[in-house]
Amino acid sequence: MRRANHDKVTPVQLIACANCGEPVVPHRACGSCGHYKGREVKPAKAKA
Ligand SMILES: [Zn+2]
Repeated sequence: MRRANHDKVTPVQLIACANCGEPVVPHRACGSCGHYKGREVKPAKAKA
């Protein structure tokens, strides 16, 4: 019997993006708008 591993994995903590309010991983640029710490650090993801 292989034991499922997912109960030991630390859940990803999400914070609300200060710019767009989307849940984002802390210390990462927002994947939705590309903002981090009040600055746009990467281009926003182009949505089709
Ligand atoms: Zn954002």
